[in-house]
Amino acid sequence: MAKKSMFDMTPVKGYEKKLEDFFPMERRCSNCLGCKFVPFEKIKSNRFGRNCPSVWHYNFNLYSARGRFQLGQNILEDGSVRFEGQALDAIFNCQACGACDVGCKVTRFNLEPLAHNIALKERAVEKGKAPDALNAVAAQLAKQKTMLPGAKKADRGAWASGLKLKDISVGKETAEYAFFPGCQYAYDKDLQKKAKSYVSVLKKAGVDLGWFGKGDMCCGGRAGQMGFRKEFEAQAQANAVVWKKAGAPKIVTPCSDCYYALKRQYAMLGIEVEVVHAVELIAELIKSGKLKLKKAVDLSITYHDPCRLGRLGEPFEPWDGTEKKILNQVHTWTPARPRYAGTYGIYDAPRDVLAAIPGLRLVEMERVRENSWCCGAGGGCSVFNPEFSDAVASERVTEAQATGAEAIVTACPWCEKNLSGVTSENGTAMPVVDVIDLVAKAL
Ligand code: SF4
Ligand code: SF4
Repeated sequence: MAKKSMFDMTPVKGYEKKLEDFFPMERRCSNCLGCKFVPFEKIKSNRFGRNCPSVWHYNFNLYSARGRFQLGQNILEDGSVRFEGQALDAIFNCQACGACDVGCKVTRFNLEPLAHNIALKERAVEKGKAPDALNAVAAQLAKQKTMLPGAKKADRGAWASGLKLKDISVGKETAEYAFFPGCQYAYDKDLQKKAKSYVSVLKKAGVDLGWFGKGDMCCGGRAGQMGFRKEFEAQAQANAVVWKKAGAPKIVTPCSDCYYALKRQYAMLGIEVEVVHAVELIAELIKSGKLKLKKAVDLSITYHDPCRLGRLGEPFEPWDGTEKKILNQVHTWTPARPRYAGTYGIYDAPRDVLAAIPGLRLVEMERVRENSWCCGAGGGCSVFNPEFSDAVASERVTEAQATGAEAIVTACPWCEKNLSGVTSENGTAMPVVDVIDLVAKAL
């Protein structure tokens, strides 16, 4: 038998779970509230003690991970609950941010609320019940290889003009790293400047950098988060073909959504690719002395951990063991199953970069690292329910203002866009910048 190539799609055990496979899990949910609050020992105030944007905004149990476990159980048990009305509304109004998953694992290590939320979305999509706006996003991905409404494949490379980046897609040139901008950096006029800035900084520090030229496309990860599994898989496979032809370089991306897609979602498909977030690489370059930040930036900032770089950015570990129920109630796994509690996400690299900028003062928010509050853009919510998405962003801006910082810094274009211009509960907005903006100022 031919050896499996690192770019052949061979889903790992557990990836192909469907809603029915979650039935025992739905019944094991103990209604303990861990999916609705920051773990109690980490709560700093009642005001910022919630973790799930969905149940916080709708204030109704159905919109929590617990509520969705109950919903799934009812759908599977008697079919009296259908994919319509408020049930359908709850299924799609979930940012897939993973805060419930981390909260749940504090008390229950054997449940996967995030994967279950997505299984519900997938079933609704299969039944043709997805919101029209999300169907349009999936169609856009299939046709234009991006999920940004109105964007065209033919315009994708505009951001790279003038950069003289090596095009490694045609097999003539090679590079150690391929720069994978992601759709926001590729198309958004303001963000394009930041993509250029990332490239300039990396090249200046001596990184051997290229890109996939005409083969550069959307990662497709967001389609998976929205329940469009087939579309996500097709996009992942299309990217794998390009990367293989380009000689399988390491990939560096400035987008946290792409990072999560390549690191976790692709790994579950069996597509093995070495990916780093650009802030990780910049942190390494600073540490090794290849990048020196000398100019002072006199600013107090607070750092927003993107969900998909932080708690969802943990490395994927395939598990191929067996699960057994003993004593009629205790589940055991042989060998031990990996437990994703968000602890090993990328939290230190962006903070190390910020700490290396002279004059910059970091003040932390109450909800940070694995308990960070989502920006509101995840799971397609910013497209089909902007009112909900903005409310979640406003809550984060309120929390950021409570620190007394002058600006919010983040490492994801989706977070940056969703938090920008949104006002807090006192009616004022805050400047939002990317890590690279401050690095560029300090050079
Ligand atoms: S934390 Fe987990 S076990 Fe507890 S109510 Fe939420 S989903 Fe159920
Ligand atoms: S993924 Fe996020 S929005 Fe969805 S239920 Fe979990 S915490 Fe709430």
